[in-house]
Amino acid sequence: MATATETAASAVRHEAGKSAPAKSALERFGPVDMPDLTFTRAIEKATAPLYERVKHHIPEIEWPVHAPYVYWINRLKKERDAVILAHNYQTPEIYHCISDITGDSLQLAREATLVDEEVIIQCGVHFMAETSKLLNPHKTVLIPDMKAGCSLSESITGADVRLLREAHPGVPVVTYVNTSAEVKAETDICCTSSNVVRVVESLDSDTVLCIPDEYLARNVARQTKKKILTWKGHCEVHERFTADELLEYRKADPAIQIIAHPECHPSVVEVADYTGSTAGMIEYAKGRQAGSKVLLVTECSMASNIEKEARGVEFIKPCNLCPHMKRITLPKILESLVYMKEEVTIEPHLMEPARLAVERMINLKPN
Ligand code: SF4
Repeated sequence: MATATETAASAVRHEAGKSAPAKSALERFGPVDMPDLTFTRAIEKATAPLYERVKHHIPEIEWPVHAPYVYWINRLKKERDAVILAHNYQTPEIYHCISDITGDSLQLAREATLVDEEVIIQCGVHFMAETSKLLNPHKTVLIPDMKAGCSLSESITGADVRLLREAHPGVPVVTYVNTSAEVKAETDICCTSSNVVRVVESLDSDTVLCIPDEYLARNVARQTKKKILTWKGHCEVHERFTADELLEYRKADPAIQIIAHPECHPSVVEVADYTGSTAGMIEYAKGRQAGSKVLLVTECSMASNIEKEARGVEFIKPCNLCPHMKRITLPKILESLVYMKEEVTIEPHLMEPARLAVERMINLKPN
């Protein structure tokens, strides 16, 4: 469903992005030696300001293990002309000590189009690296662990979307960015948890397929008059939270403020004081008065990462870690820079339709 202008513009880009690199990224960029990871006095001194940022999360005794990686990653990323994008769910040493850009999926997707560096290292999960590649077809996109997946992304295939279209002819398909390029290529427009309502409202149809996250779709359905059809995909992290568990916290402290991610079950969202994307949650937390207690109903690394931004706010973290996000570690990031791996590629025939779905979301005008 591309417009004529989109098709003409993207045809040029598609041609340019079409040829898969014949050589591996290591062959194209050349080798560098794996650095010596001894914790020297020089490394201790150079990384001391970075340790200040994470000292409340990493015990002093553990810093000599992290510091050589932090030091060499920061040096090598300049040598490799690389930028490091880190999702809000990454560990504090990645988020605060080596990343250049941090944010939620939408922020990272937007920022990925603005960077000058030749190489993008995506500290997040595979669909995020694919989105960066879609928006930067000429750049080298690396993910430190190719197995960093996502239960939502894996819940649906391109063939499933085609079947849904057959079952609901003419109904536009909105796809969460937490999907593969193959799925994005079958859809009309992407969305994130921060703009999904706006995306749904922008469509000229009374019925919308909003896939693959069932709970996100049900939460959207409460905010629009449109009929929302969905899929049975769930985030394995957010589906674990229950309303009963949160009400126990509130019973223990009635002043507590509960902020939840919209990938949670609607009954969880019902008891929350605020629901929004990770970026929205950060803004909400920053707006609380010092001394407030905030229960953060999302992946638990985020509270550690935003404590500095929301000074004086006490975060309570019912801890659910995302095992896929946690596959990304400092040693693997260093290996990415040394060996230029794992390179993210996308089938040429998927590039144009998938990118258009993402670009339509990014270009959607604010209300
Ligand atoms: S937190 Fe949930 S949605 Fe995000 S990557 Fe992990 S499994 Fe996927």
